[in-house]
Amino acid sequence: MSWTATILTLFPDMFPGPLGQSLAGKALDAGSWHCDARDLRPFGLGRHNTVDDTPCGGGAGMVMRPDVVDAALAAVSRDDGAPCVYLTPRGRPLTQADIRRYATGPGVTLLCGRYEGVDERVLEARAIEQVSIGDYVLSGGETAALVLLDACVRLLPGVMGSAESGVEESFSDGLLEYPHYTRPAEWDGRAVPDVLLSGNHAAISRWRREQSERVTRERRPDLWAAHLSNTTRSSVQEGHPI
Ligand code: SAM
Repeated sequence: MSWTATILTLFPDMFPGPLGQSLAGKALDAGSWHCDARDLRPFGLGRHNTVDDTPCGGGAGMVMRPDVVDAALAAVSRDDGAPCVYLTPRGRPLTQADIRRYATGPGVTLLCGRYEGVDERVLEARAIEQVSIGDYVLSGGETAALVLLDACVRLLPGVMGSAESGVEESFSDGLLEYPHYTRPAEWDGRAVPDVLLSGNHAAISRWRREQSERVTRERRPDLWAAHLSNTTRSSVQEGHPI
């Protein structure tokens, strides 16, 4: 069975969407992964298949009912141990480490919220992981699910052109990637750094590492602090003076 994404959504036609193109689309056609988007609406209640209700305690908007979401989850339940993930701005930030974990398993079940989100009780009762794709609010979980799936699918065996591309890139070792250049050697008065044209692989490697550290320090002090503390910890464990 290929890596399978089961998606619970009120808008199943949004899948595979952009993931039907390019690398992910070719991999989908080749059967390297499977996209199973399921409509939440038929699990709704009454004549109108209602999936939401007013928030307890008052306030704006509607909340997705726990009984409806639970019935949908039960209908798509899998016995392969795939994690169930609810996309929400209230979740912990999604990281490349999560993506690697999801990509190396049998797949994921993704729950896409709408309105004000999903009743907390079903999330607790079914031990659903809650992850956010960033500190901003989208109108629905579908675009967040597409982001998570894009990041997973490119890591599946055989999907990327070169095996290295998944190893040496931003976040793979806790740092952002170094800058890239291609031809022409000079463009608009700007030259490609000499070292990259030198053919000296050790010097290129050193330069890339320095650039990677510089850009992480400047743009992502949070990642830089974590990198420093990891480096210190491994030096101590290996008995090196710091
Ligand atoms: N009331 C929620 C809050 O303030 O935290 C926002 C609900 S949002 C309008 C509707 C749905 O979009 C959410 O249930 C979630 O599934 C999805 N969503 C919005 N922003 C997201 C984000 N940053 N990451 C992941 N999912 C998000």
